[in-house]
Amino acid sequence: MTQSISVKCKLIVPSNLGGEVDRTLKGFADACNQILEVAKRENCWNTTKLHHKVYKPVREATGLKANHVCQAIRRVIGNAKAVKQIHKFRPTSISLDVRTFVYKEETQSVGVTLMCGRVEFKLSIGGYQIALLRGQTPTSATLNKTRRGDYFINFVVDIPTQPTGKTPKVIGVDLGRRDIATTSTGKCWSGKQIQSVRDRYSQVRANVQSKRTRNSRRLLRRLSGRERRFQKWLNHNISQQLVQDTKQINAALAFEDLTNIRESLNQKPRSKTERRRTNNWAFYQLRLFVEYKANIAGVQVVFVPPAYTSQTCSRCGHIHPVQGKSYRNGKFFKCGHCGFEHDSDINAAFNIAALGACVSSPQSPGMSCQLLGQMSLFEMIQICG
Ligand SMILES: [Zn+2]
Repeated sequence: MTQSISVKCKLIVPSNLGGEVDRTLKGFADACNQILEVAKRENCWNTTKLHHKVYKPVREATGLKANHVCQAIRRVIGNAKAVKQIHKFRPTSISLDVRTFVYKEETQSVGVTLMCGRVEFKLSIGGYQIALLRGQTPTSATLNKTRRGDYFINFVVDIPTQPTGKTPKVIGVDLGRRDIATTSTGKCWSGKQIQSVRDRYSQVRANVQSKRTRNSRRLLRRLSGRERRFQKWLNHNISQQLVQDTKQINAALAFEDLTNIRESLNQKPRSKTERRRTNNWAFYQLRLFVEYKANIAGVQVVFVPPAYTSQTCSRCGHIHPVQGKSYRNGKFFKCGHCGFEHDSDINAAFNIAALGACVSSPQSPGMSCQLLGQMSLFEMIQICG
């Protein structure tokens, strides 16, 4: 089994070649826009059929190489399938295939076919990328130009995964209530530092927005990009550590399944925090990163139903009998039935771990799941599914 990942490498583009790359980027975007026009006009979203309609005229109009046009057709169809609303293509990215690029490991360089022909670029990469690309012959890539004018190439490589062994040990991860992530082993990534960074950005944003000049709009765009990159960097770090720790003690990871929460819990009013947890792309990205890293490392990831994980006592399985009331009080959890006291997020992580153990190996005799005293496992899984 393998896992596809994308390896981002900076291209060193000599000043005399920048114009040539830009010309090809422009040609590719023009081709995509022309193809999109035809696809919309004739309502044709099949790669082969569209190819017959557009290949010749687009190639003549843009002067692109044959395979660039083929990739442009794929890009248009792929985009239309991925997002309902189709925007105009901008000259910032081009898809490459085995005939339009080659990665050369010995020289840490890449040969790319531009409109003027094959050009070789040095890669500016570190040990991390070199290790991922070792022995690889990627057959798919995209070349991108950033707003700042830097060029990057994203190689798609397949990394072999390790088989996941069955394990009774499960680490539960509670996401995004008070902190970003809290584990049942007591580890926690605090939201405070992140919030202060966020606040700083939003303060700058508020100042900028009040001025409303062209310059400030540009600054605004740059800030949101920086914030996004910060979050991505953070998610890479958290997911890396989570998977590493779990691998070390040969355990599995359990998360709440927040993807179906909208459908399954739409009867109950949800708090502001709950809405933030389900609608936030940052948590979605974190789970995505964990999943692919765990896949490569051979760590099993299970998803459990999110209902009651924060209200249930992880020791005795009790939930507050009065509807709308909870034993949880902000940071603290104090069970009214058995007196159990703990950090409320860690209590939730305990519950997620216990549920995860049930889901990952239902026949396991050791796990009686006190949590399920309130609800059968079958019901729990139904909510989840
Ligand atoms: Zn209790």
